[in-house]
Amino acid sequence: SELGPQLEGLVVSRFGQHADIEDEHGKIERCTLRRSIRSLVTGDRVVWRAGKESHQGISGVIEAVHPRKTVLTRPDYYDGIKPIAANIDHIIIVSSIAPEFSRNIIDRYLVACEDIGITPIIVLNKVDLLDSESAEVIDKALQDYRDIGYQVIYSSKHGDGLDSLKAVMKDKINIFVGQSGVGKTSLLNMLLPDVDAVTGEISEGSGLGKHTTTTARLYHFKDGGDLIDSPGIREFSLWHLETERIASGFIEFREHLGNCRFRDCKHLTDPGCALVAAVEAGQIESARFNSFLRILETMDDAKNARHRDP
Ligand code: GDP
Ligand code: ZN
Repeated sequence: SELGPQLEGLVVSRFGQHADIEDEHGKIERCTLRRSIRSLVTGDRVVWRAGKESHQGISGVIEAVHPRKTVLTRPDYYDGIKPIAANIDHIIIVSSIAPEFSRNIIDRYLVACEDIGITPIIVLNKVDLLDSESAEVIDKALQDYRDIGYQVIYSSKHGDGLDSLKAVMKDKINIFVGQSGVGKTSLLNMLLPDVDAVTGEISEGSGLGKHTTTTARLYHFKDGGDLIDSPGIREFSLWHLETERIASGFIEFREHLGNCRFRDCKHLTDPGCALVAAVEAGQIESARFNSFLRILETMDDAKNARHRDP
């Protein structure tokens, strides 16, 4: 059948051989995919053409995918590495003191972000639960992150930090990650008032149509910027990487990494380790170095577990 001119679109969700894209006027169009398209995920920018008339709810064909700025992946038993979303600018790492505040979990997310080249933002949610004692500990830990260049925002579901959050997310594609219970859903419901429970049904008012799915979806924030969300995205985590990639995921380690005496230094007990020297000289926080060692340990465990698999 006849097709119109080439148009630009943004994938808001992908399911099987179809995708919903948003056209330049903000209208959602359901499209099929040209066979030549090997990979298409939420957040992809595409070239598409509208059919002369819409057929069974299908209004066009996606013909090409623009190069991705970034891609979020997860390991897949069958496919090796599987893309789950594209063109994400910010990963908002949500933490809180309930469940217990963990620098190691934050560090694991930071390493994953640095490895794929997406800017992380650290959020300390549930600030209303801080008392003067816990605030002191948390402030000190989070100041360490600020000192090495990360942005930190304090927030709560009652509205603390809302303006700062909106400001960083504006004109960017964002995802929220963090342990279960830290308050991601509550924050998102506050930020996306048109969407009723981000994991579930979407209200008519959001203009995104209605269907429940576990695929990643893109939503617009009322004050600008986008969110991509799905259960899979919230569970995004650090998977197996070689020691040197973990080490360079600690951004303040980078300037020291070339200075170890041995090129294959494991940064553990090897003599002349520049990282250990930097910790002793106070150039690297020992909490971060310990976190690095803990991540290496869990990587070994993960590898051993994999080798035991049939
Ligand atoms: P998620 O698992 O990260 O999506 O966390 P939820 O948004 O479901 O929140 C988990 C629990 O923490 C719920 O009982 C929320 O009401 C509570 N909660 C979320 N945000 C805050 C907050 O800012 N302050 C307090 N005191 N409780 C919160
Ligand atoms: Zn070393």
